[in-house]
Amino acid sequence: HSVLSQRVLSIKESPTLAITAKAGKYKAEGRDIIGLAAGEPDFDTPQHIKDAAKAAIDAGFTKYTPVAGIPGLKKAIVAKFKNENGFDYALNEVIVGVGGKQTIFNLCLAVLNKGDEVIVPAPYWVSYADIALVAEATPVILECGIEQGFKLTAAQLDAAITPKTKLFMINSPSNPTGAVYTLAELQALGEVLLKHPHVLIATDDMYEHVNLTGDKFYNILNATPALKDRCIVLNGVSKAYSMTGWRIGYAAGPAYIIKAMEILQSQSTSNPTSISQVAAQAALEGSQECIVPMVTAFKERHTYVVNRFNSMPGLSCLMAGGAFYAFPDARGAIDNLFQAGKIKAATDMALAEYLLEEFDVAVVPGSAFGAEGYFRISFATSMDNLRNALDRIEKALQ
Ligand code: PLP
Repeated sequence: HSVLSQRVLSIKESPTLAITAKAGKYKAEGRDIIGLAAGEPDFDTPQHIKDAAKAAIDAGFTKYTPVAGIPGLKKAIVAKFKNENGFDYALNEVIVGVGGKQTIFNLCLAVLNKGDEVIVPAPYWVSYADIALVAEATPVILECGIEQGFKLTAAQLDAAITPKTKLFMINSPSNPTGAVYTLAELQALGEVLLKHPHVLIATDDMYEHVNLTGDKFYNILNATPALKDRCIVLNGVSKAYSMTGWRIGYAAGPAYIIKAMEILQSQSTSNPTSISQVAAQAALEGSQECIVPMVTAFKERHTYVVNRFNSMPGLSCLMAGGAFYAFPDARGAIDNLFQAGKIKAATDMALAEYLLEEFDVAVVPGSAFGAEGYFRISFATSMDNLRNALDRIEKALQ
């Protein structure tokens, strides 16, 4: 419609949310849909976190707070970075936002100009490219297929950097692939970035705590500390503490960038919800034992799901290092189904549609993440659901 801005016309609705909505609609109509599209833990928020929020309400902590977050939460974030990651940040180098997504949005609006290039390794979390577009920048998508473990190589990064490159986004553990970069791989990327001082780096560590191997977590700043004055570390409580609905994310980085993000936030959402901030502080400062049962369940389901996928015709699936997704290569299965006349096109969209319309399973096509020929399932759902869903997918592929 001609009334709408170029800005909004340049982007699309988040495909994962769109598929989740469609599956929800079919469910409401009475169909027995198994939804594997949404990206959120199926556990309840731990009790001590909910109790802290209830106490905040009862104490009347229900008013505006400082835009960048309450001092108690900011201190908890500074302590988290120090104790878990070995990073030293001051209070004016951290900001709390309305979820990880808004924090990334504010970062992009704060640093990107029209024509700036943003390097995004694919498969990528759906929002990176669209947020860059909202900021009128140009996403530069670098293909990293299953052959390279879904990870960007130093040579690819080196070849992609131009004088216009403004920002490099890295996400490990990755949504949608679960791939985790090793310290050596991060060091190799860091070496390249040291040669290009005009490039900012954003590391999205949202799945740090959804660690499926028990290996120590590293991000690119651990690997190359000299990048600190142009690196923004993004994280949040949504996935680690099953708090997706509370809407709290946070970032740390150079004070002048954090300040710019705060100014943007002051003219958009203002502070994140006061009550959620208290809950997030309880999550960061409380016992971290509450993460263990969730991760234990994710590990069991992960092994089950990957083994099942690898036993199905035309699918090939890697073990993930973190997060709660499996991302099988379905190119063989798509070809088979297309040859057999069961799907309308040889695409992952057609496969996802076939699975939803005829087998009542909702998955997200790989093309939504910049990787045609794959699909993503979330295993943040019960083993019963997974067993049923995988039986249906197996039947669909026969
Ligand atoms: N980053 C990644 C890689 C994600 O997968 C998500 C959520 O799906 C986010 C950030 C945003 O999380 P939040 O729900 O806190 O906005």
